[in-house]
Amino acid sequence: MMGDRSGFGGIGGTGNAGGLDELNDLYEAIILDHYRSPRNTAPVDSPDIDLEVNNPFCGDEFHIQLKVDGDTVSQVGITGRGCAISQASASLLAELVEGKTSSEVRAAVSAFRRLLKGEEVSDEEMEKLGDIEALSGVRKFPVRIKCALLSWVGLGDALEEHLAK
Ligand code: ZN
Repeated sequence: MMGDRSGFGGIGGTGNAGGLDELNDLYEAIILDHYRSPRNTAPVDSPDIDLEVNNPFCGDEFHIQLKVDGDTVSQVGITGRGCAISQASASLLAELVEGKTSSEVRAAVSAFRRLLKGEEVSDEEMEKLGDIEALSGVRKFPVRIKCALLSWVGLGDALEEHLAK
């Protein structure tokens, strides 16, 4: 099976095609794992933020609940259905934001958005995104960027709105 390697210039930086395939396998494993066993799906008791987001182009729908303690997301619950990318992305988000301050969440949403659009993301930002790097391949499929960003933008905007009250 030959993958299209031409779009991967720069990733890994070794020029080693074998390593690249391993990286792709790793990314795929992370995405499938989150798709099959989504994190933080338990409903949140009396949530401070409760919203539904959907992407009608793909049929992705998520229910996002957050408990906010001062400036920190103390509890998160995200459930929903949709394509594998949207579900894996929502699960990675649910895992990431728990215990984070609003500015950390804002920074993560900004970095993730840039990652998907193929824009500059610093090494420090990549480190904070961690496993979320697995979704970087989505940038090759513009129609899927909406799927990946759906829960992130919804959660980020709702958190800003909540804190502005
Ligand atoms: Zn989708």
